[in-house]
Amino acid sequence: MIIDIHNHISVKHSPYYLSSQELVAAMDEAGVDRAVILGKDYGSLGDVRNENLTDEEVAEYVLDFPDRLIGFTAAHPERGKKAAVDRVVHAIQTLGLRGIKLNPAAGFFPNDRALYPVYEKALELGVPVIFHSGIKPPAQGCRLKYCSPVYLDDVVVDFPELRVIIAHAGYPWVEETIMVGLYAENVFADISTLNQVETVLGYPVMVPALHRLFLSLGSGRIVFGSDGVFNMSEIAEAVKGADFLSDADKENILWKNAAAILGLNQGSDQPRQE
Ligand SMILES: [Zn+2]
Repeated sequence: MIIDIHNHISVKHSPYYLSSQELVAAMDEAGVDRAVILGKDYGSLGDVRNENLTDEEVAEYVLDFPDRLIGFTAAHPERGKKAAVDRVVHAIQTLGLRGIKLNPAAGFFPNDRALYPVYEKALELGVPVIFHSGIKPPAQGCRLKYCSPVYLDDVVVDFPELRVIIAHAGYPWVEETIMVGLYAENVFADISTLNQVETVLGYPVMVPALHRLFLSLGSGRIVFGSDGVFNMSEIAEAVKGADFLSDADKENILWKNAAAILGLNQGSDQPRQE
């Protein structure tokens, strides 16, 4: 069983767009059972380039394969407190999405007080929040200063019950990610895209980061994520092949933690057993 907590779709006019059938076929090939499709709201940066996703697009996409795909909505403080909260409520309660994605690289700090009503609502609705963190996306206008995990400390301290996922383990600031999570049991780090970061930087990134996260936070706080179908196999293989992880650790990382974060353990929504 593998759950990918960090996957994406592109807007339909993008050359990178994959249909839900193509995405699920790639998941089958990589042995991934379920994937989270993250929402995208880059605020005005995304509006200008027509790259933001609507929740309806995400919901429609995941409904093609309701037992394989899980959708997340998105939030950006530019939208205003009320609009951001209304969007989350509609996405979760009406469209059936199951979490919230924020991308601070698109112009805000995650501890921006304008976002606190969104975090309060996430808690009330019992859904997790995933933050892009660390290396910035290549999209034009994204700024690195917002991506430092240390700004998540305020969120974690002020909302100790909120399930927070620090994407990309906050790389290169893995120590910051570890410090934010050290005494906060609802903080998780995903290891998505670290294989690509390694290719870009030209030195070992993925396994050393995984190792440090494991030694400090333990396997209960690391989650498998890809950031796109082309990374799925490589990252899953790195976890499976890590000699410092026991079989139980690997199961935690590959699906058990994600199932708990996403609330898949209750009722009829049991993850399929292998
Ligand atoms: Zn991503």
